[in-house]
Amino acid sequence: ITIRKAEFVTSAVDIKGYPELTGPEIALAGRSNVGKSSLINKFINRRNLARTGNTPGKTQMLNFYRINDEWSFVDLPGYGYAKVSKEIKANWGKMMEEYFSRRENLRAVIQVVDIRHVPSVEDQEMHAFLRNRGIPVLVVATKADKISKGQWGKHLSQIAKALHIPDWHMIITYSAETGLGVPELHEAVEEILSM
Ligand code: GDP
Repeated sequence: ITIRKAEFVTSAVDIKGYPELTGPEIALAGRSNVGKSSLINKFINRRNLARTGNTPGKTQMLNFYRINDEWSFVDLPGYGYAKVSKEIKANWGKMMEEYFSRRENLRAVIQVVDIRHVPSVEDQEMHAFLRNRGIPVLVVATKADKISKGQWGKHLSQIAKALHIPDWHMIITYSAETGLGVPELHEAVEEILSM
């Protein structure tokens, strides 16, 4: 994939706010602060198109980014921030349910996890939810620069096991800091878009 153009389209809290259906869409799901915005920025090679480093739990919106005037990334609101209220959690569930059940051009979800940690219960639930819905899900383990290369395999196999992924080589190892995994993710996205 060559990124010729990348632009922020809009933020939305419900279907009324979604941009019109134009081309395929790939959504990103993950814990608050896991590095979804950084992943997008590195993927499109822009320093700060997707806003990073926000207070976890604060960005309770879907953020739409349009790439090459052809397809879109949707940064879904992060989950798993303990300090948010029950109301925000319920609202998050509603937003996700609405998005996944109504967005017809959704092709796949990139689930972003932190390579350093065993997936949380919420990561596991999200993964199972997507699979049960028949939505293709690609797991990306980011922040790989934070542990030594010799440890990647061990961590990736633990992640694979927790998410019932048969082979840890199916997980893309990524770093928004070093650019590790960017070519692999470009290739995977290209494949998703050609399906
Ligand atoms: P989001 O809430 O999932 O969108 O997370 P952000 O992209 O805002 O990242 C949260 C924090 O993790 C920020 O301080 C980022 O600079 C940092 N971060 C994200 N990705 C990486 C990475 O691959 N390596 C390192 N070292 N830090 C990262």
